[in-house]
Amino acid sequence: MYDPKSLKAGDFIDHGEVRDTLEYARANSLNRDLVSAILDKAKDRKGLSHREAMVLLECGLPDKNEEILGMAKGIKMDYYGNRIVMFAPLYLSNHCVNGCLYCPYHATNKRIARKKLTMEEIVREVTALQDMGHKRLALESGEDPVRNPIEYILESIRTIYSIKHRNGAIRRVNVNIAATTVRNYALLRDAGIGTYILFQETYDRGSYLRLHPYGPKHDYDWHTEAMDRAMVGGIDDVGLGVLFGLVDYRYEFAALMMHAEHLEAVHGVGPHTISVPRVRAADDIDPARFGGGITDDTFAKIVACIRIAVPYTGMIVSTRESQACRERVLELGVSQISGGSRTSVGGYFEEETENTRQFDVHDNRSLDEVISWLMELGHIPSFCTACYREGRTGDRFMALCKSGKILNCCHPNALMTLKEYLVDYASPKTLAMGNALIDSEIGVVPNAKVRALVTKHLSMIEQGSRDFRI
Ligand code: SF4
Ligand code: SF4
Repeated sequence: MYDPKSLKAGDFIDHGEVRDTLEYARANSLNRDLVSAILDKAKDRKGLSHREAMVLLECGLPDKNEEILGMAKGIKMDYYGNRIVMFAPLYLSNHCVNGCLYCPYHATNKRIARKKLTMEEIVREVTALQDMGHKRLALESGEDPVRNPIEYILESIRTIYSIKHRNGAIRRVNVNIAATTVRNYALLRDAGIGTYILFQETYDRGSYLRLHPYGPKHDYDWHTEAMDRAMVGGIDDVGLGVLFGLVDYRYEFAALMMHAEHLEAVHGVGPHTISVPRVRAADDIDPARFGGGITDDTFAKIVACIRIAVPYTGMIVSTRESQACRERVLELGVSQISGGSRTSVGGYFEEETENTRQFDVHDNRSLDEVISWLMELGHIPSFCTACYREGRTGDRFMALCKSGKILNCCHPNALMTLKEYLVDYASPKTLAMGNALIDSEIGVVPNAKVRALVTKHLSMIEQGSRDFRI
């Protein structure tokens, strides 16, 4: 029985409710009145229920589909403007005891090299990341209680935050590690992590059990209830995601929306971010074997419908996607992207000599190329990490976000952190383009006092000061 307030995975991701939602959406895919009513409701920017969002995703009316894309673009501009926050993944270890059929790190893969970074190697990796200009990382690690215990993850986080190379600093470490205990989540919180991210991979229990044949991750309930334990452990910001391409995307979409509703119902705070990875080729992984592949058009529509359904939740797209695909979904709702990423263990400091990659990257450009590309498209690349450092997390963050007041912070912070990037790391072409962008954007800061403060800070950054934030 569907119950968004229950703490049991089988209740808040109730299989019957997902099936009924898909059936309801299918039956109404050409129901013009219903689609119009849902789009009218979405105009108030307060989001949609999972059933309403599913009707939009299934909508087969071409003119209404255009409206859906237009509304997603409007919401993107209202909540996020033209800013795009940058991050990079950092792979700590590819040792893993799980058997995920879509990931080359599965325990029985003998063809890839296994590697775990030492603290010295982490210093080299993070120094290389700082020298690119990154300020925000997503830590990645396989699940291996012996080789990658929580103590190793905590020590890695402490090491990362301690590294200050030239003007560089990692100011926010998000963590993407396996589902764990309330105690371990509390330890991660105490270590000062930003968002805890865990991809569900698939919400369909039968497929989940088949795709995770052994290892701790085989336990569907343990994995699906992880976000509740994280929040009980004191982590305010959690990030959801599914791996599109494994099973029917409709099932994943409806269940993902139900998971977001569950977090809101139980904890009063929805997901901080939603990631939309698609399964990609890697060492012994062929995405075609799963049969759930989706076209770029469907992918774009999923992004648009998530944007409309949960307007206040950030959306992340990685270098799993090509430049062309990223360009398309940026305007439909994506608010964070990675750039210059390496998906191997130790890949930032040295060229890959062994195969330790988790997936093949589809956007191989350097961070500087990505930054200048974003600006050419009219976006403001942002290295902002201010909220978490100012204590604006969880319900405090969501209240600001839902009221729209967060925009008074995001835009000035984007300009100041972009300026840091330009002064410290940019190529001459990117520097010129960025300075022109900042000159034109400073004029649109609405509050005169804030405008004056940001102008002063921009000039102080040129003279060597760093880390201003609002
Ligand atoms: S997806 Fe994660 S848990 Fe599964 S094999 Fe890969 S690293 Fe291990
Ligand atoms: S001010 Fe907060 S919400 Fe805005 S970009 Fe910075 S960290 Fe993100």
